[in-house]
Amino acid sequence: MMRFGLKVARVLGLALWLGVCVLWVRSYWWMDEVRWKRRLEGWGPVPVRTIYIRSARGSVEVGTSKEQRFEYREWRPRMWNYEQGEGPINPAARAVEHGWAKKYAGFGLMRDWRGEASAYRLIESFEGGEVRYRNLPVSHTESIVAVWAPSWFVALGSGALPARWAYVWLRGRRRERRGMCLRCGYDLRGASEKCPECGTVISKSTGGTPVPQLGKT
Ligand SMILES: [Zn+2]
Repeated sequence: MMRFGLKVARVLGLALWLGVCVLWVRSYWWMDEVRWKRRLEGWGPVPVRTIYIRSARGSVEVGTSKEQRFEYREWRPRMWNYEQGEGPINPAARAVEHGWAKKYAGFGLMRDWRGEASAYRLIESFEGGEVRYRNLPVSHTESIVAVWAPSWFVALGSGALPARWAYVWLRGRRRERRGMCLRCGYDLRGASEKCPECGTVISKSTGGTPVPQLGKT
């Protein structure tokens, strides 16, 4: 009997793989991105740490922005957000402003940063009991470190386990139908208690051997 945890792990593994495949096809029309942001300190220009995962144009990218300064003052300390955009570009086709990018066969590694904000805006703030005006950068500065890989590679990697489970399951079905040992495939007709080949105990209820645990087969 399969344990519950193992079953859940398989369902999640299969769902992950299916999700990767759907995103792969979708990535040629749409960019999908999930971001987690954390405000590091203070107000005004707010330093923000971001971690993101993005699917765009046949590639999957994971990155972090080390520093990102926003003018907004209503930033929540932590947040998740999801973005999608039309006309996705492959990370390898992206221009690097200041920094470097290494690319090979759809794989890549990048470190890029933007210069200081050039536009400023007078912002009203209330400090120490009086209203003050400060020049705050309107745009943001950021430094990005990212790695990416082709979607086919991610699909292949995440599909390896589900493919293995499907293979073991199909093999078990076939052996059961033919009256063979589920573990080693030995012909069990005439055998009564144990498989003569591998010693697996034959289960009385099903007439076959107990289904072997995955990973041991
Ligand atoms: Zn056997």
